Amino acid sequence: MTNDDLPMALPPDAEARRAVPPVICYPTDTLPQPDLVLYRAARAGAVKIDEVIAEPREAAAFRVQAGQFFRITSVEGPQVGDLNLWNLHDPGERFYSGKTRALHGTHLTNGHRMWSNFPHLRPMATIIDDTLAWYGADAFGGRVHDVIGTRCDPHTHHLLSGEDYHHCCHSNLTRAYARAQGVRVGEAAELVHDVLNVFMCTGFTQDTGQYFMKASPVRPGDYLEFFAEIDLLGALSACPGGDCSSEHSSDAAACHPLLIEVFAPQEGALEGWQSSPRNGYSGSHGL
Ligand SMILES: [Zn+2]
Repeated sequence: MTNDDLPMALPPDAEARRAVPPVICYPTDTLPQPDLVLYRAARAGAVKIDEVIAEPREAAAFRVQAGQFFRITSVEGPQVGDLNLWNLHDPGERFYSGKTRALHGTHLTNGHRMWSNFPHLRPMATIIDDTLAWYGADAFGGRVHDVIGTRCDPHTHHLLSGEDYHHCCHSNLTRAYARAQGVRVGEAAELVHDVLNVFMCTGFTQDTGQYFMKASPVRPGDYLEFFAEIDLLGALSACPGGDCSSEHSSDAAACHPLLIEVFAPQEGALEGWQSSPRNGYSGSHGL
C-alpha cells in the first residue's frame, strides 16, 4: 500500500520488455569451491571441545579456530537463530549478507559459504551439514536459512510501534558481543551486522514482493553445521519470534534455547587445506 495514486502509463511494448529472459548476475563457475569431502572426513574424526547455549530471547558468543567446526542445534522446541560472524582478530572483517546472497541465492545450504565484507571478501565459514536441506522450496516460495532479512531490531520496532523492546536479535547480539569483547554497548551495536537467519523459513510474496516468514520446519535435533575457514568470533541470538510463525520483537511467541557446539579435527586431518587469503584486489580503485 502506498500513497502514490498517479495514473500509470503502459508503453506499447510493455509485454515484450517483460518477456526478456533473466541472466544470473554472478555465475559461480569460477568461484573457488570448498573441498566438502575433505571437510566431512575431518569432521568424522573431530572431537567436541566446547559448547554454549543461547537462552531464549538472548544471544551467546563463541570462538572457533580456523579448521574447526561449529554446529547449531535446535533443542526443546522450534526456534530461529540470528547468526553474526567476525574475524576473531579484526572485528572490521565481518559477514556480508548481501554479497553472500548475490553469490549463492536468498537461502543457504550445503556447500554454500558465508563471505566477509570488502575489502576482505573471502569465505569465513562453509556449510557442511544441513538437516533441513530436504525442505527445498515450498508452495509459497518459502525456503530455510535466509540471507534476505536483516535481524529484528529495536529501531524498526520503535519506528512501527513507538515502543522500546530490548530483546530483539540486534540488541541480544549487541550485549553478547559487548560482554565477549569487553567493549561498550555503543561500540558493540555498530559491529552487529545483517545475519544468516538459521532455521528461519522465509521468502517474498508473489503479489507485493514483501518479505514474509512462516513457522520454521525445524524440530529438536535438527542442526546446521559449519567449517570455520578463518579464526572466528560468532554470536547467535535465539530470536524473540521463536519459530517466527506469527510475530517477533515481543515476548508473545514461545521461545526456546539453541545449542552451539565446537569440534576440533584430529592432527593432520586437513592435510593440504589452507585458510583463505584476503581478496586479491589491489585496492587502488583506479587512482
Ligand atoms: Zn530476531
